[in-house]
Amino acid sequence: MAVFANYLAAQDLKYYLPDNVSYNPSVPKPKDIIYHEVGEWHVTHDRLVNYMKAIAAAAPDRVKLETMGFTYENRPQVILIITSPGNHKRLEEIRQQHLKLSNPSQSASVNSDNMPIVVWIGHSIHGNEPSGANASLLSAYYLAAAQGKQIDELLENEIILFDPSFNPDGLQRFSTWANQHKSKNLVTDPNSREFNEVWPGGRFNHYWFDLNRDWLPAVHFESQNRLKWFHMWKPNILTDHHEQGSNASFFFQPGVSSRVNPLTPEKNQELTAKLAKFHAQYLDKIGSLYFTKENYDDFYYGKGSTYPDIQGCIGILFEQASSRGHAQETSNGILRFPHTIKNQFVTTLSTLEGAKVLRKEFLDYQRDFFKKAVTPSPGAISGYLFGDKNDLAKTFHFVEMLQRHQVEINELADTWKDGEFEKGKAFAVSLNQPQSLLIKTIFEKTAEYKDSLFYDITTWTMPLAFGIPYSSITNQQQGVVGKKIEQFPFLKGTITGGKSEYGYLLEWDELYAPAALYELINAGVIAKVATSKFEIPVSGGNRKFDYGTILIPVALQKMDAETLAVILSALAEKYRVKIYAVSSGNAMSGSDLGSSKFISVTKPSIAMIVGPGTNATDAGEIWYLLDQRMNIPATHLEQTVFNRVDLTKYNTIIMVGGTYNEINKEKLKTWVQGGGTLILTEEAVSWAAQNGISHVKLKKSKLPVDSTQRIEYVQREQIDGAQQMNGVILGAEADLSHPLAYGYNQKMVSLFKANKVFMEKSNNPYATPYYYGSNPLQSGWISRQNSDAIKNSAAVIVNAVGSGRVINIADNPNFRAFWLGGIKLFMNSIFFGRIIESASATTGE
Ligand SMILES: [Zn+2]
Repeated sequence: MAVFANYLAAQDLKYYLPDNVSYNPSVPKPKDIIYHEVGEWHVTHDRLVNYMKAIAAAAPDRVKLETMGFTYENRPQVILIITSPGNHKRLEEIRQQHLKLSNPSQSASVNSDNMPIVVWIGHSIHGNEPSGANASLLSAYYLAAAQGKQIDELLENEIILFDPSFNPDGLQRFSTWANQHKSKNLVTDPNSREFNEVWPGGRFNHYWFDLNRDWLPAVHFESQNRLKWFHMWKPNILTDHHEQGSNASFFFQPGVSSRVNPLTPEKNQELTAKLAKFHAQYLDKIGSLYFTKENYDDFYYGKGSTYPDIQGCIGILFEQASSRGHAQETSNGILRFPHTIKNQFVTTLSTLEGAKVLRKEFLDYQRDFFKKAVTPSPGAISGYLFGDKNDLAKTFHFVEMLQRHQVEINELADTWKDGEFEKGKAFAVSLNQPQSLLIKTIFEKTAEYKDSLFYDITTWTMPLAFGIPYSSITNQQQGVVGKKIEQFPFLKGTITGGKSEYGYLLEWDELYAPAALYELINAGVIAKVATSKFEIPVSGGNRKFDYGTILIPVALQKMDAETLAVILSALAEKYRVKIYAVSSGNAMSGSDLGSSKFISVTKPSIAMIVGPGTNATDAGEIWYLLDQRMNIPATHLEQTVFNRVDLTKYNTIIMVGGTYNEINKEKLKTWVQGGGTLILTEEAVSWAAQNGISHVKLKKSKLPVDSTQRIEYVQREQIDGAQQMNGVILGAEADLSHPLAYGYNQKMVSLFKANKVFMEKSNNPYATPYYYGSNPLQSGWISRQNSDAIKNSAAVIVNAVGSGRVINIADNPNFRAFWLGGIKLFMNSIFFGRIIESASATTGE
């Protein structure tokens, strides 16, 4: 009976809202707009937005709705600005005044005694952690409609940036799932379909990315739009409402103190702990259990609760035990959706109350944070240079990423280091600027750690990820820093020498060269790839061309020279690639253009295995790469569909980490033997080796303890955790003459490894185009046992299986879509995998 009563109470706002508060009757209640009570159904993103619009319309003196931008599925990312009517009248003035706190040249004169604090309330970046977004209905109602002294005082002292859904596409996907499986008589058995979403689930955005890893790289629209608003306001507190396993209780930060990033000031954690007192007090009042100081870290600045910590702001992570559906059996009894919503709502109230009380302390902390940031540190490094003179598109994206975080960038006063950094193609960032800590986390390598357990990756050195040459500079070298740039335009490529009657050469170094090549061959143009170096006259003199240069001979084409010139010129402009017209096939050195060293490129027709068993984020990274960056279509095949379709229409199949229990192995092997190119990454490499599809010898890392040792029970977490491969940066040595390394100019290629797939080098000396030497670690945490396993192992192995090829890539070359440095390896596998000579590949013999 008690359960029934609880269920009924959940149908009513009284279950959630604080006692003794009256509400403005002209503000609609959630049910008036979304047609159901909060917690009765899962709110869809569409209805959530309708409600936010409705309260902004009903309470315009308190609530202003803005659209930050749109998601891939064209859902609006809305944000409410909630404050007192008085503050709304001078909102821009307040914002300008607030921004001065983070500008050390102006902050000293700012009086923080009566300034409002800026608090960003954010919900459900993981779409299938719905209690946050559903609680936003209540918080928005409360803030818009509550009457009395307490709310007036709160709104007078705070500017609330209210983000009801960090991940609109994911929330929509998940709410649809949960609602379509709801029974009138709630089924609480965790085995039921309601609690077991189909792949890829609502956690991710449209391209199956975890947006709670994207705050720093900011690859996705959702993050880019949000960062624009973050820096427009520079909040003092940012909350990040998540869910955890159903058997847990409720978590709020601070987390584990030894797992806080060392760049985060100690005062940040002090303020986090002060705010935590308010959460504890509010949760005690409603009888909810909670925990702090355990499980969760504050280490990777790509997460929503950690990014603010390097911005003079305090990020707060909340983790509510998930009911996932409407009510679920747990070890704590039946966990009802309304209960999970209530905890999130109450901790929004505790955050706002804490912010009001601690207002001045947070404001002054922000001022101090940025003042310290521009105080020269005793270290020898005063800034960094970066830029890839052979790949300006990649350099452009790096500049773009820095500018999203408001990093000031300077041009070079002069070309530097014997031309490694060319003026106009390389840039400088100085540490003498407000974003100096963020610059450090972007450029620094990390080798020392206080703890060996990590919730996520242990390193993210961005120039290594982008594969961009970079160098630190000292105070004495500060002269190389030129004037500040506003933006680095995405320069358009051109055809050097204009229209040709003979042929064109397209260099392979630029990021988007594969996109240009695909568009060409898709249009029926015949293109060949150079497997040797050569030197040939072009407009302006002789030029040396590298391995991988694409030759487009005019006479072989079906179209006339005029049409071809128009197509190529458009491609150069669109993809920023370098094309040279040639008037003769006679090389000054190396192969002539008619040589058999130029091999025709086949149009790739690609299928990727996706669906249950496969790693959604790994597959999503490839989907994003091919679709968004390269404009190349790929078919997504589920294992069961793979088993029944005709595979002859595909010449390339991609498999990422995962388990492939359903797939017809014989069919896959027969397809490879018939001439297919099978590209495997991470655990798919070990799966194929163990199932007789490829020829790779796997290595295992040694166990950290041997069976004769006795170790205390409680030590297990630390010892086992230290053996996890959470993600390190390794430098692989590349054979630059190998088709899989075309387009690289440096022998050392940084790859990202977050798995325990270790491959022995092949016996065939040509079959390991990328391998690790005796000291491959560039940055990150790795145990001695795993490090031993990686030393002198293979990063990439090519197999010949029948007339097909298997490309085994042990690491993740496309990690989270900011690993631009691995893109060439992956695209080379797609375009050039099939031209690798079989005698240069490992066979079964
Ligand atoms: Zn989460």
